[in-house]
Formats: sequence, C-alpha cells, structure tokens
Amino acid sequence: MTIIEAHNIRKSYGSLEVLHDVDLLVEEGEILGLIGPSGSGKSTLLRLLDLIEPANAGELSVFGIDTVTDRGTWLDLRRRMGMLFQRPVVFNASVYDNVAMGMRYRGAPRDEIERKVKEALEAVGLSRYIKSRALDLSGGEQQRVALSRVLVTDPEILFLDEPTANLDPTSTATIEEIVTRLNREAGTTVLISTHDLAQGQRLAHRVGVMIEGTIAQTGPSREIFREPKSQRIARFVGVQN
Ligand code: ADP
Ligand code: MG
Repeated sequence: MTIIEAHNIRKSYGSLEVLHDVDLLVEEGEILGLIGPSGSGKSTLLRLLDLIEPANAGELSVFGIDTVTDRGTWLDLRRRMGMLFQRPVVFNASVYDNVAMGMRYRGAPRDEIERKVKEALEAVGLSRYIKSRALDLSGGEQQRVALSRVLVTDPEILFLDEPTANLDPTSTATIEEIVTRLNREAGTTVLISTHDLAQGQRLAHRVGVMIEGTIAQTGPSREIFREPKSQRIARFVGVQN
C-alpha cells in the first residue's frame, strides 16, 4: 500500500520557491532516505509531509486520505505520525516526564504510560537517567530522550530530519539500531533525511536524491551510485564518496 503520495508539491517562502514540483511515493513498511546537499529542501519537504505546514500547491495524500481538500483531517493524521528533529527537543523536566508527555496529552492511563516510558527508555539505553533532569544530559542522550517520546506514541510513520547530525557515535548507533528494529519488528514506515550518504546506505531500502528543491532521482542507493541520472547527482554522490 502507498502510505504517502505527493504530486507536484510546491513551497515558497516569500518570493523564494524552495520546492518545485516534488513527486514522491512512499510504500508502507519501507525506510526511505532523503539525501541531498544542505539547502536542497529536505527539511522543508519533511515538514510538509508531516503536516507541520501546508504546501502552496500540489496533491498530498497520507494513509490514503487527501490532506489538501480536507484540512480537518490534519490533527488525526498527525497523531499517527512521529517526528524527530535535528536538534533534540527536550523540556525542563525529568527524563520520565519528557517521555510521558505525548502519552499524557493523548489521555493514556497512568499505568500504561509508566510501562511504556520504562520500555522506551530501556530500548534507548537511558533507564538509569529516568529521574534526571533532561537538560543535564548530553546532546546525544537528549536526542535519545526525544526519540523515546516519539516511540511511546507508536507512530505508523516516523519522520527523522538529520537525527544524528552532531551526535556522538554511541547515540548515532543507538538511534540507527532502534530505527532499523522498529521498521523490522513493528513495520513502521520511516522517512529519514541525512546528508550522510553512508547512513542513507546503512538504513534506507530506497533513497531519493534532492537537488535544488526537487527529487532528482529515486531508487536503491546502489543504483544511484552506479547510474546517477545527472551531473549534479553524480557530483553529489561522488564528492562524499
Ligand atoms: P535542507 O534541509 O535540505 O538543508 P531546507 O529545507 O532547510 O533544506 O531549506 C531549503 C531552502 O528553503 C533554503 O534555501 C532555506 O533557506 C529555505 N527555507 C527553509 N525554511 C525557511 C523558512 N521558514 N523561511 C524562509 N526560508 C526557508
Ligand atoms: Mg535540513
């Protein structure tokens, strides 16, 4: 099943058009990597697909629901998705409260919250910090707290925007492991943007290369390395290789 279907998506900020006619299909259960140089539009595209902000034009269906004609669906659809940003978002509260936050907001029962928060913190290797103040942790640990907060909500689609840029190797490896396991065991669909080609190859079943506001090529990463469709793509995948 196609879980995200985007056609001719355009996005402008003021007079600057940053996405031009983006087409993208994401299949349920896949890990799709979005790679591309800085400024190519990866974060913007993720914010549109995740329904954080609207496109200026184009068609976008998520879970088979047309999001453009019916903005009333956004809140419900958003609850089925989770997003992790490049900079960890943590609040001035305990690690436990930081992770429990999303579940409380959804009105989950207290014992269920406690069970799931403990499970999630165990999965990211942070059980021993459950009572610590989240802001006292390192950047990598804070990102793992933020990931736990997303995990406890059981998202059907997980969006990761350069989640490990600036992280230490341990946190990077932990996050990659969890994403892989979540995809394999729960069948979660994952969209991850990264400027790290090696990470794209490690994690993604398929990658889309963004160049100057469009998706210039999609396919298995091996194919993109072997047969880049344009000079720009060749240069991008070549430079970092
Ligand atoms: P990437 O994530 O690939 O580095 P972005 O999506 O962050 O690229 O940015 C794409 C382009 O859009 C850049 O030129 C950036 O400056 C511009 N841009 C992104 N967000 C905004 C915004 N909120 N207001 C104005 N310009 C923006
Ligand atoms: Mg970005």
